Amino acid sequence: MDKLRAKIRDIPDFPKPGILFRDITPLVKDPAALRFTIHQLIHPFVGEDITAVAGMEARGFIFGALAAWELGVGFVPLRKPGKLPYNVQTIDYDLEYGSARLEVHLDALGVGDRVLMVDDLLATGGTARASCSLVESLGAEVAACAFVVELDALEGRQALHGRRVHSLLHY
Ligand code: 5GP
Repeated sequence: MDKLRAKIRDIPDFPKPGILFRDITPLVKDPAALRFTIHQLIHPFVGEDITAVAGMEARGFIFGALAAWELGVGFVPLRKPGKLPYNVQTIDYDLEYGSARLEVHLDALGVGDRVLMVDDLLATGGTARASCSLVESLGAEVAACAFVVELDALEGRQALHGRRVHSLLHY
């Protein structure tokens, strides 16, 4: 895990002054680190009845699609507004300043699906909570949420209201 941690680059004052951004691009660029990350992400869920992986735009697509591939299931993109071409289900959620929206195709998931949610990082948990609600609104069950990085001080885990959370690195 220390090798993985060394592949996360700290960028001060991005995207705004006072924010320390954890940049996962060096990790994604390194083939051994990327492979290790994906294996660790899916490890607790191998052999479970996961039917799909859902990933949040945009960095959740990178880890989510690879996790789906390794689990042998399909990938469902949760996208920012106006990007998906077919009929969508929508969820609005609050950010620290303002609000945001995520969308999913109406026929992407349904009753009987057990979904692994994947994103690069859990901060306040607003994005992940909205993503879970969006998937659940289609009748699917959230089996667990998996993150490469969790920012413990922001208590995103609590925002997920007891849903199962698996994170590789804690800051
Ligand atoms: P939350 O909704 O939990 O507050 O924020 C998590 C979302 O914001 C994730 O989709 C994540 O990609 C993005 N995010 C917030 N801060 C960071 C950061 O420091 N590094 C990275 N890579 N993503 C972040």
